[in-house]
Amino acid sequence: MCKSIAEDRLMEFADLAIDLAVSSVKADGLPFSAVILNQNGDLIGKGVNQVAKHLDCTAHAEIQAIREASRTENNASLAGTTLIASGEPCALCYLAIRMAGIQKVIVLSSRYEAEKHGFNYLRTYEYLNESFFHDLEVLTLDHGRKLLPFQLAKMNLSD
Ligand SMILES: [Zn+2]
Repeated sequence: MCKSIAEDRLMEFADLAIDLAVSSVKADGLPFSAVILNQNGDLIGKGVNQVAKHLDCTAHAEIQAIREASRTENNASLAGTTLIASGEPCALCYLAIRMAGIQKVIVLSSRYEAEKHGFNYLRTYEYLNESFFHDLEVLTLDHGRKLLPFQLAKMNLSD
């Protein structure tokens, strides 16, 4: 029922996620981006963190990508899709991911790598329990540039 997206295709969109995150940081934003692929591996949504820009505390990258993907698909359900995130989703975003029915999450930089670069949202996970992750696939993809957006952002923070 769910075919898996080829590795090189995932890597291509991991590249895009990193490019989006780098652009976001260069525009004084945050190093968080997300892209969503349908079951054929086609891009249906992307987003970066726009909390400050939109004065909207829910405008995290993943949620922005979900909004765009749902508009693309004309469907609030994104069942069977894959989300790639430059930084691991926070609890709010994991919830939105579950509510959208996204099947698989691919994390580039982990919550701990984000924390090391000045973005600490570890406390948000206290609201989740392990059962939450049943039947949600969360994978990491080791990408050579995965830390770049966070390194650039950390330099901005220490300016
Ligand atoms: Zn979030």
